[in-house]
Amino acid sequence: MAMVGFYFYMCKVLCCRAYEFRSVFAAGPEPQTGRRMQVSTPHVTASAAGSPRSRPASPSVLVIGEILVEIMADTVGDGFLEPQRFSGPYPSGAPAIFIDQVARHGTRCAIVGAVGEDDFGRLNLDRLRSSGVDVSAVKVVPVLATGSAFVRYRASGERDFVYNIVGSACAAITADAATEAAIDNATHVHVMGSSLFSPVVTQLTLDAITRVKARGGTVSFDPNSRKEMLAIPGMREALEQVLAATDLFLPSGAELTLLTERTDEAGAIAELLDRGVQAIVVKHGAKGAAYHDRSGTLTVDPIPVTEVDPTGAGDSFCGTFVATWLGGASPEICLRMANASGARAVTIRGPMEGNTPRAELERLVAQSTTPARLPVSAT
Ligand code: ATP
Ligand code: MG
Repeated sequence: MAMVGFYFYMCKVLCCRAYEFRSVFAAGPEPQTGRRMQVSTPHVTASAAGSPRSRPASPSVLVIGEILVEIMADTVGDGFLEPQRFSGPYPSGAPAIFIDQVARHGTRCAIVGAVGEDDFGRLNLDRLRSSGVDVSAVKVVPVLATGSAFVRYRASGERDFVYNIVGSACAAITADAATEAAIDNATHVHVMGSSLFSPVVTQLTLDAITRVKARGGTVSFDPNSRKEMLAIPGMREALEQVLAATDLFLPSGAELTLLTERTDEAGAIAELLDRGVQAIVVKHGAKGAAYHDRSGTLTVDPIPVTEVDPTGAGDSFCGTFVATWLGGASPEICLRMANASGARAVTIRGPMEGNTPRAELERLVAQSTTPARLPVSAT
């Protein structure tokens, strides 16, 4: 199963995302008053945001999954069939990028993973530690090499990858005393659908969700998956189980309808809310993001930047959104901070090199004059 999972994981990451936009995200409905609400340049603090939710005073975020190095081709072109120059190794892996950004926000956090006893592993652990991530549940495996990904951009913007994940230390993630302690310490679990290629990771994740929810904690879920992944035996069930426990759902574009019966955006959002998801945040790359909950829809334009390297933007966005949301900020502030995080991420080469401390994101948001659209309509 692991190989099949890896195949679909590869399919997902090898393909350039095709986003489908509908006008509901581009403009959104009018507010109930019939007048569009104007939002001034935000002063970004959780208290200024209003509508604080009841969350643990000191949240602690847990993610479980792959830790990799990424090695990037210096030239644009097709694949790796001739000698070429590379930059890297950069610390990477979607869960690692996410949790690094959570730490940069100043929120307590930990990752469960595994690396080899090699420089690629040390590089990752050093980075995560220096950002403030608790890595005590990252196993250092003597025999296997740290996972890796070679990436080269094509002129079209698509990417070619050569991965070593399933045959790497990533496959050595197992439950032990350290993972137990990490789960015990968590108040929030973030799930990356693409990490569920391993049955062990799936089991650990479901266990963490059950225990954290039983203590009154919360779950966020970025499917980071393509429809083909659903063909893997057990995968749909695992993703459905995660979704059933999800408070905050963070899909990218077409991933919104990955697990819904309804295939239109408005229908899928209504269905997800009916199934118990509190809030849905849809990432739209350079077009920004949209937030939906029972009280309506909010869109915020992206911060205009020159894109250098889009890898990791979604993970950085999610890290900031989750940390800001757990801090009790309003949806608008969460969206603005996460947009700033994604925008920063794409301007710097390397998957987590563009991760940004909270204070700097707050400065960026405060300077930004992009309007928010706040159509507060009942769904
Ligand atoms: P990945 O899974 O590859 O990390 P993703 O598809 O989950 O990415 P994106 O939608 O590409 O996530 O990006 C996340 C967020 O980052 C966007 O919603 C937006 O706020 C911001 N962002 C991404 N690209 C740009 C850009 N070119 N300009 C400004 N902001 C951007
Ligand atoms: Mg993503």
